[in-house]
Amino acid sequence: MSFNFEQYGKLKNELPAEVTIVAVSKTKPISDIQEAYNLAVLDFGENYVQELLDKHEALPKDIRWHFIGHLQTNKVKYIAPFVHLIHGVDSEKLLAEIDKQGRKLNRKINCLLQIHIAKEETKFGMDANELNSILQKLPIYPFANVCGLMGMASFTEDKQIIESEFTHLHTIFKSACANFTTLYPNTFKPETAILSMGMSADYPIAIACGSNMIRVGSMLFGNRSNIS
Ligand SMILES: *Cc1c(COP(=O)(O)O)cnc(C)c1O
Repeated sequence: MSFNFEQYGKLKNELPAEVTIVAVSKTKPISDIQEAYNLAVLDFGENYVQELLDKHEALPKDIRWHFIGHLQTNKVKYIAPFVHLIHGVDSEKLLAEIDKQGRKLNRKINCLLQIHIAKEETKFGMDANELNSILQKLPIYPFANVCGLMGMASFTEDKQIIESEFTHLHTIFKSACANFTTLYPNTFKPETAILSMGMSADYPIAIACGSNMIRVGSMLFGNRSNIS
């Protein structure tokens, strides 16, 4: 199956207008993305640098590419010229590299700080203390434009666990927004801050918990054959 526009339309109708839908196109062919683009979908998510580069090369240049995978520091330079939003910034080292590459290009690169909320050790992200220490240092990295936070809930059927993890992230988000408003009253606009949480299986819970950006793949493009 290729892009399911009916499903996308339903999703758009059901969600509040301020929620951005990122169509996660990882592993899907360029033709599926072109099809979705022709139907006015502009936000796509990828998790491998090489795959993103190939797709960016082949597809219209007004697509907004979201990098949703774990980004290695040495690969920032490849996506820096065009990426719309990097979702998974999980260390100051990565933030510093994004700033460095943005500075070279004189381009502010949008990014989200990834917070670890899941029980699983395997998921990336920082805790609330690391977040607070990074927030103080943002003026050192003016070319890394931190727009908000991102997180992934545990891979579980248990809705209560998912809900408590998303609620936790929303609490961190609200307090970070409050801190930011105090630290940078002239430049920070809390109403524009992004909270990226929710995937095909758990987006309704994420929305109920305050998400304003969801990353959905399988419900729009069908199941992926591999596990990425
Ligand atoms: C693959 C992926 C998604 C989309 O997952 P679906 O279950 O297909 O909706 C969302 N976020 C991240 C970080 C992903 O890697």
